[in-house]
Amino acid sequence: MCIGSFLNVVIWRVPLGKSIVSPPSACPGCGKEIEPQDNIPVLSYLILKGKCRNCSMSISVKYPVTELITGILFAFAALQTGYSLAFVNYAVLIALMVVVVRTDLEQFIILDEVSIGGTVAGILLALLPGGLDILTSLVTAVAGASFFLLIRAGASIYLKKKNIRTEAPEGFEDEEDEFQGGMGWGDIKLAACIGAFLGPASTVIAFFAAFILGAISGGAMMAFGGKKRNTPIPFGPFMAAGAVLALFFGEPLWNAYMNLLG
Ligand SMILES: [Zn+2]
Repeated sequence: MCIGSFLNVVIWRVPLGKSIVSPPSACPGCGKEIEPQDNIPVLSYLILKGKCRNCSMSISVKYPVTELITGILFAFAALQTGYSLAFVNYAVLIALMVVVVRTDLEQFIILDEVSIGGTVAGILLALLPGGLDILTSLVTAVAGASFFLLIRAGASIYLKKKNIRTEAPEGFEDEEDEFQGGMGWGDIKLAACIGAFLGPASTVIAFFAAFILGAISGGAMMAFGGKKRNTPIPFGPFMAAGAVLALFFGEPLWNAYMNLLG
């Protein structure tokens, strides 16, 4: 949960180009520095009933939820890996995916620090004994990004032909081209990162899950949320969910699928 608390800082500051180490966290309402006893993950939020101690400005529930989800996923990771180096892989990928979900949902941003930095981290972590080898990690990263690049290229051509233009979300009007093609460049770079961590079989599961989750959610949002077909929906959160699912259940799901094919 402490790592989740740190991720909250990353999610808030890195897109603004601010340092993640200084100054210490302060209330955005009154600017008062947050005291250590008010900075305990989840617990402080509950004790303060979601309000700043100084000015009573309400604190978003996103912060404790991020801390709790990070803590729960880390606990599951520890259960699955035990005391082994594999835990490092799990923890790093989970942390990266938590950041993707938040930044992409809130700002249509997948940070390069996460996608490109994550790809490098995934390849380097393949040097640890017990997991993927470095070549497999590298090749899956390239393959993952290539696959998403193909989707973007194909979708752009198709949408242009059909004369469908996606509306850029508010605040992104000058980057309208980025939203033409189904997948953004951030998604393509994120695909490399997921590939680098998971290797071929689990990456297939992760992408498959992402597309299913995306299709279900997109359909539901159009049916019940009043979303139009040309309203962009960030795809990063689905990729992140698929990656975490594949991290925990990739191997059994892959084997089940292979058995199904006989
Ligand atoms: Zn305050």
